[in-house]
Amino acid sequence: MKIGVLALQGAFIEHESKLAELGIQPVQVRLAEHLQDIDALIIPGGESTTIGKLATQYGLIEPLREFARQKPTWGTCAGMIFLAKDIGIDRQPILGLMDIKVNRNAFGRQIDSFEQDIEINGIGDAPFHAVFIRAPIISEVMEHAHPEVEVLAALDDGRIVAAQQGHLLATAFHPELTDDQRLHRYFASMVQST
Ligand code: GLN
Repeated sequence: MKIGVLALQGAFIEHESKLAELGIQPVQVRLAEHLQDIDALIIPGGESTTIGKLATQYGLIEPLREFARQKPTWGTCAGMIFLAKDIGIDRQPILGLMDIKVNRNAFGRQIDSFEQDIEINGIGDAPFHAVFIRAPIISEVMEHAHPEVEVLAALDDGRIVAAQQGHLLATAFHPELTDDQRLHRYFASMVQST
């Protein structure tokens, strides 16, 4: 199995290390042709406006969209913003594939970074230590979507921080920055089952 990591900007190296720990060969994706050789893709956290700008410059928006329409794709943090259909901003380039509404920088300035143990459906009962860095949230899961959007994790106040829609996975936090491998394993199992 080969999993690509979009390597334009942000925390791509950390994702690569996590994949390597699991014995999966990571592939850096910087050009459209790099997508030909991979089974799945991770879009890392970073700055979604920068990732969008660079993806536009490198002619990657349409190839990425085409890839993620068909193959397992996981967006973390800025990557989640990049996957969403609605981010409330028209001018920022995104892939616009997942039926979720996302608010950027949802935690404001005072607590724009924090860590919290959360429960995530599908990865076992033990809490996952989630690192939120100027994180977005999923403010709304669109109804009547096909396939349905499944909420995997929410904070105590109900704000959604992880969701899955078929072969698309989105997390508001940075699972590549902790020792816990369960979300990377979960994604690998999504890839295996497609
Ligand atoms: N605040 C960033 C954005 O809007 C996301 C932060 C992150 O990926 N850690 O793109």
